[in-house]
Amino acid sequence: MVIDRRKTKVIKIGRVPIGGGNPIVVQSMLKVSPENLEGSLIQLRELKRAGCEIVRIALPTEESCNIIPFLKKEVDIPIVADIHFNTRIALKAMEIGVDGIRINPGTINNVRKVKDVARQAQQTKTPVRIGINSGSIEKRILRKYGKSTSDAMVESALYYIKLFEDVGWTELKVSLKGSDVIETVNAYRKFSVVSDYPLHIGITEAGPLFSGAIKSAVGLGILLHEGIGDTIRVSLTSDPVYEVIAAYHILSNLGLRKRGISIISCPTCGRCKTNLKEIVDEFERETIHIEKYVKVAIMGCEVNGPGEAKDADIGVAFGAKSAIIFSRGIIKKKNVPKEMAKDILKEELFRLL
Ligand code: SF4
Repeated sequence: MVIDRRKTKVIKIGRVPIGGGNPIVVQSMLKVSPENLEGSLIQLRELKRAGCEIVRIALPTEESCNIIPFLKKEVDIPIVADIHFNTRIALKAMEIGVDGIRINPGTINNVRKVKDVARQAQQTKTPVRIGINSGSIEKRILRKYGKSTSDAMVESALYYIKLFEDVGWTELKVSLKGSDVIETVNAYRKFSVVSDYPLHIGITEAGPLFSGAIKSAVGLGILLHEGIGDTIRVSLTSDPVYEVIAAYHILSNLGLRKRGISIISCPTCGRCKTNLKEIVDEFERETIHIEKYVKVAIMGCEVNGPGEAKDADIGVAFGAKSAIIFSRGIIKKKNVPKEMAKDILKEELFRLL
């Protein structure tokens, strides 16, 4: 089934087009202090290698903006400055030449200051994400709805969009993050009915790697299946590279993006005589940079492996003493020494690239 994506307005962050049916863009965020230039650069390079297409960076002070030209010189990837409370930082980041900014207007809570940001964005041609968060909805709207609801988030987003439109700046993207999955899904659904600005979707504070990836897959899966979402971030309390991997898995399972190696591995059972988990983990790490979509099977036994994974472009199945390499269910190599099997699988994979 092909998902019918909602037609949104197109904006550009750096060279990356967003919305209007363009591929859904995978984002993540640096988790290193901007004072740590070297650490930030290492993480930025790791994210780019994993397929991240836009990186957000928290800028807590005006001085921290100096990291922007440093990173832009070293790595070719659009950088979005994440600003809360202090609009002077947003103004400085735009002046320095950041590719986009993300503001949470609820934490700024001042019309004049939000309009100052809008004017600077208009002058410097900087796209802006208006990031509405249910925890920081302005009091006026909270009084109207009694509490922070999906309707309150939509009203808040439309209000701040209007402030930007008033100064003539419409290169905007919107996010609406609620306190739970259902509230977030409802907010995005309702917003999509009344506006065609592109949407950044994510489940805020999703949690640790395992539960956070599941929570994000549920929430983002519902929205993406309904055609909602132009950029995506899976927020995890973990290495941001896992955020990128999780995002591509969600998109790939919905047929929305196909990038990189899709590993088909069995859950193992009593027939498995190999440490399959270790081999799968290593193989995933060693092939993370590959952009071409290829299905690779890594199976725990020769009895069922090739048959169960006949969909795979290339695969390995481990026996008690040796392994076999197969492609689309047909055996290509037999009696491969187990300790060499992973490397031979990689060689065969590289032939397909
Ligand atoms: S492929 Fe083999 S080891 Fe893996 S789950 Fe199936 S029977 Fe068990």
